[in-house]
Amino acid sequence: MAGVTFPGEGAGPTLRCIPCRLVGPAPRGEMFIIRGYYRAMIEIFTGDITTLEVDAIVNAANSSLLGGGGVDGAIHRAAGPLLKQFCQTLDGCRTGEAKISPGFELPARRVIHTVGPVWEGSGHYEAALLKACYRNSFEIALHNDVHSIAFPAISTGVYGYPKQPAAEIAILGMLAYQDRFDRIIACCFSATDAGLYRQVLAEQG
Ligand code: ADP
Repeated sequence: MAGVTFPGEGAGPTLRCIPCRLVGPAPRGEMFIIRGYYRAMIEIFTGDITTLEVDAIVNAANSSLLGGGGVDGAIHRAAGPLLKQFCQTLDGCRTGEAKISPGFELPARRVIHTVGPVWEGSGHYEAALLKACYRNSFEIALHNDVHSIAFPAISTGVYGYPKQPAAEIAILGMLAYQDRFDRIIACCFSATDAGLYRQVLAEQG
C-alpha cells in the first residue's frame, strides 16, 4: 500500500493550467477541447453534492455500500431506494477501492462509491488508502464514459481524517487527472472547508 502513487507523481512540479486554443463553437461548453492543450480547471463548490448535474458524483461510502450517515446517507436519500437495491449486487467494497452504480433519481448519471480510511493516527496506511480512493474513483470514471465528476471530502467526516492533509491528497489527486476530464469539482460542505481547498489549490496548482 505504501507504494500507491498518482500518475505523474514524483515527476517534478505539476504543470500550471494552459489555456485552450479557441478554434470554434464547441459541441459541449464554450470551446473545443484540444487534447494536450486542455486541462479541466478544478472547481471548488460549496454545498450539497446531491444537487450537482455531472456525469458522476463520488460517494464516501462504507464497505457494505448499503448506505450510512453523512454524504452517503444524503446520496442514498436523493437517489431513491433503487440505489440500495443496486448496491446489494456489488458485493461491498474494500477500503481504497471504488465501484460504480447508476444515479437513479439523482441529477448525476452515476455514483462512484469509494470507501475512505478511518483515521487511526497516520500509522495505518491512511494516506496511501485515501490516495487510492481518488485514483480508483478516477480510473473507474475513465472506464465508464464519465467526463465530469464531483468529489466530497472523503474520510473527513465521521471517519475523522484531519482536514488539511486530506485536502492536500484530494487536490493532488485531482491535479494528476485534470487533463483527462472536462470538469472536476471538489464539493465542500462548508465555507471553511472550501477556504481550505482554495488555499491548498493555490499552493499546489
Ligand atoms: P466519511 O465517513 O468518509 O468521513 P462523511 O459523510 O462523514 O464521510 O463526511 C465526508 C465529508 O462529506 C465531510 O466533509 C462532510 O462534511 C461532507 N458532507 C456531508 N454531507 C454532504 C453532502 N450532502 N454534500 C457534500 N458533502 C457532504
